[in-house]
Amino acid sequence: MSDIIELLPDHLANQIAAGEVIQRPASAVKELLENSIDAGARHIQLILKDAGKELIQVVDDGKGMSPMDARMSFERHATSKIRNIDDLFSIRTMGFRGEALASIAAVAQVEMKTRQPKEELGTLLRIEASTVVTQEAVSCPEGTSFSIKNLFYNVPARRKFLKSNTSEYKHIIDEFTRVAMAYPEVAFRLYHNNTEQLNLPGTHAKGRVLDLLGSKVEQHLIPVEESTELLQIRGFIGKPAAATRTRGNQYFFINNRFIRNAYLNHAVVQAYEGLIDKESFPFYVLFFELDPQRVDVNVHPSKQEVKFDDDRILYAYLNAAVKHALARFNIAPALDFSLNADIQQLDAIRVLPNTETQSKVQSGFLHHSFSEGGKAHLLENQKSRADWQQQRTTFFPSMPEAQTPIEQPEPQEQPTLPVGEERAQQVLQWREFLITTLKSGLLVLHQKRALECIVYERLVKRRHQGLELSQQLLFPLNIELSPADSTLLQELLPSLKQIGFDIEPFGKFTYVVQGVPPDVPAGKEQALIEGLLEQLKQESSTWKLSHEERLLRSLSKRLAQPAYLQPEEARTLIDELFACNSPQVTPDGERVFSILPRESIASLLV
Ligand code: ADP
Ligand code: MG
Repeated sequence: MSDIIELLPDHLANQIAAGEVIQRPASAVKELLENSIDAGARHIQLILKDAGKELIQVVDDGKGMSPMDARMSFERHATSKIRNIDDLFSIRTMGFRGEALASIAAVAQVEMKTRQPKEELGTLLRIEASTVVTQEAVSCPEGTSFSIKNLFYNVPARRKFLKSNTSEYKHIIDEFTRVAMAYPEVAFRLYHNNTEQLNLPGTHAKGRVLDLLGSKVEQHLIPVEESTELLQIRGFIGKPAAATRTRGNQYFFINNRFIRNAYLNHAVVQAYEGLIDKESFPFYVLFFELDPQRVDVNVHPSKQEVKFDDDRILYAYLNAAVKHALARFNIAPALDFSLNADIQQLDAIRVLPNTETQSKVQSGFLHHSFSEGGKAHLLENQKSRADWQQQRTTFFPSMPEAQTPIEQPEPQEQPTLPVGEERAQQVLQWREFLITTLKSGLLVLHQKRALECIVYERLVKRRHQGLELSQQLLFPLNIELSPADSTLLQELLPSLKQIGFDIEPFGKFTYVVQGVPPDVPAGKEQALIEGLLEQLKQESSTWKLSHEERLLRSLSKRLAQPAYLQPEEARTLIDELFACNSPQVTPDGERVFSILPRESIASLLV
């Protein structure tokens, strides 16, 4: 018998672990800058040679370290920032994993000088490849200075892997910008190859954005400022004209930490829909403040990917905040604030305000839209519907003034537009859109999404009214599934039944379909069921929706098939849409229509 398992020697383990935290000079820059911020520095200098390949030096005037801490700080998992597991959920500092310095020291030659303000002497420490070479007392300025020389000198494979100086420098600038953006009150200087590149004095948020991105962006900035019991959103978005062809200036910060998040990005982009074209990227610099308990930054060593308690709320708030900002600056019509009803049901929406924040928060737009005891979406719906009806009476002058419903009535009581000569209005069908005129501008409507709303509400209504949900098939259909799909279908059978699919197990992985909802076109049953299963498999489970709700949504999507319409059909579709409870967005939150105000159209022509 021969044993083959051995423990890795420390230096090797450190080098391997370092690979996760330090991929390139920019990663070291990020870690050092964040440490200086955490140390309370007011002035930070970043000094580089050869895009950080030869030297990265960070000098701060923060609180410094004792000789003992100086030595400890390079140990793996050595941190002053958390003490127990609970601390992990209330993180306010940028670092906390205690890995950065150990990682850097494993793959470079490091020199550190540090002094605490009240001490006379500081500490000098030299470390190469995780080994302490020198530790002695020195006189040095208060604060801490780190020099990192020859990154990856002992890991040639990694060193070789580094990109050109231009490319590495750009990565550094990106990290530098993100930290500097989040801490405008801290002064920063950046030197590269002995030349000063940037000198950023301490300032306020807007000043810092302009210092970093150029004062020419000022004319394009629209401030965003919203508070709710749950979070604050502040910062700037760009006017549509500032949107760029490449993903340029887009920054999210959660509790001052730069993050990437495609979902939140979508919330912003969605708010610009109709204002910028699909291929361009809106400008934004947005800061969220929220209880650290609701954010998990612990998911990735670089901490750029974070998880939220419930990202749908954040999505809804952000989307509304951006729309609100655009509307206040008369860039988008105020009509389109639309809320997804099930967001209202989430507990987090009903966080009780504390007295300190109460008055500020309650005067805010977001509070009114979302937080009034779960009934806000009704109010909001009525409001937007009233807006629409007002639009409609100007659109169809001979119609009697529509009444704004006081009590939310059953949707079917909504008046639809009458058929008759008054409706001689033209509807143009162009690509995926229907376009028609209002007095105040152009109504542009996405046909497939409108159909989704209509189908969805029809399905929901039929269920609520206890109508016959299932239409029996003349020839029951056998379907055979893979074992995995079969398990899924088994789990879904009760929910499928609820929405009108009458399906029974028949043998091991075979099922017999007896009935389907009346809207399902003949001959399409099998493809539809397989499609539904496929979609449910793909969907991320972070959507905490019931099976039934997910099925209803997928089904509506699949049944919403755009087609070429006769003029009368197009008008009927518009009527049906605006008879819906929430015509503004699809059940999945995609915008259905937009009104281009006359002024926006006019401004295209100046
Ligand atoms: P983390 O930041 O996750 O705690 P690091 O390896 O980055 O881990 O740093 C380890 C510790 O060293 C920090 O917790 C902090 O106490 C100390 N430290 C690092 N950089 C500085 C600095 N610039 N000024 C003062 N203390 C520092
Ligand atoms: Mg750190």
